[in-house]
Amino acid sequence: MYNTIDKLRDAQELTREEWIELIENFRGVSADSAQAQYLFAQARAVREAHYGKKVFIRGLIEISNICKNDCYYCGIRASNAKASRYRLTPSEILQCADAGYKLGFRTFVMQGGEDPFFTDEVLVDIIKAIKTKYPDCAVTLSLGERSKESYLLLRNAGADRYLLRHETASDNHYSKLHPEKMKLSTRKKCLLHLKEAGFQTGSGFMVGSPFQTTENIADDLIFLKELEPAMVGIGPFIPHNDTPFAKYSAGSVEMTIYLVALIRLMLPKALIPSTTALGTLDKNGREKGILAGANVIMPNLSPESARQKYTLYNNKLHSGAEAAEQLKMLKERINKIGYEITVERGDYLCTNTIQNH
Ligand code: SAH
Repeated sequence: MYNTIDKLRDAQELTREEWIELIENFRGVSADSAQAQYLFAQARAVREAHYGKKVFIRGLIEISNICKNDCYYCGIRASNAKASRYRLTPSEILQCADAGYKLGFRTFVMQGGEDPFFTDEVLVDIIKAIKTKYPDCAVTLSLGERSKESYLLLRNAGADRYLLRHETASDNHYSKLHPEKMKLSTRKKCLLHLKEAGFQTGSGFMVGSPFQTTENIADDLIFLKELEPAMVGIGPFIPHNDTPFAKYSAGSVEMTIYLVALIRLMLPKALIPSTTALGTLDKNGREKGILAGANVIMPNLSPESARQKYTLYNNKLHSGAEAAEQLKMLKERINKIGYEITVERGDYLCTNTIQNH
């Protein structure tokens, strides 16, 4: 196992069989074990070579929980009649950015369900307003599948980054997580369009989603290696009571941090968040992610009422160090483990993907 980790660290590609064996080897292994500690140390060294001890922060604005899609895992799926729906107005979104800027955020992430209200026109106006007022800030979008033309318009309006997890790189597994009309091929096409439009593009998947096999995870990693995204978001699957997956168990925190570390070794310069889902399952999850090689944290900037309604899964964290207003607490927690929150845009280091506008 040590050999395979070294190979990965030395920028050699692993075969599918090697990936499967490596992931299998880590199943059920304690995060305190020598193997796990070795993996984390390698991942930290690689991350520090590129980004030092810096942890970038992104202010997350959850703009709407109205969604036309019906992903079986997600609490804001269209069929969940119990979800109390909301949508922020453009001026509320700007107010979130104002508050965030004052707190020190230099990246705003607008995330939401696939809400038809947010047409290209509406989004272009919001993006332009934020970029005009805060030209030193990056705007990240996480609004699902859109047309190539739409991505281009949003990019030309000034949006810098786009997050769209592939969720699983296996067609068969994808069809078990999504209704018939959602296709992995569409997702992949969107990711290519995003890259072509010049976005710093993010992808990723849930760890321990129902029916996920070791082979599926290996294929996720191979897919990510090929895509070479600027950002990779992974978090444990957490069931939501009012979804078809209510009765499935959550993914493992350990496996999530092993995969964070492996992704760090495979894509040394990637921006990798220590996700809210990780923090939700484990009170030290955020720190564990950072110590496994993650270098981004996305505190919540949404208005309080929205936070309670943007429930992708049970018990989703939105207070304490998770809340943007509690940045001081987050800074202290990150300092305690030897890292440092920094107030900068925190762009991907590979300059050829960054275009100025
Ligand atoms: N509509 C946008 C944003 C989705 S929410 C989009 O399609 O990209 C962001 C991510 O939350 C999703 O990509 C998914 O991987 C994750 N997520 C959704 N439901 C979840 C659950 N039950 N447990 C853990 N993560 C979940």
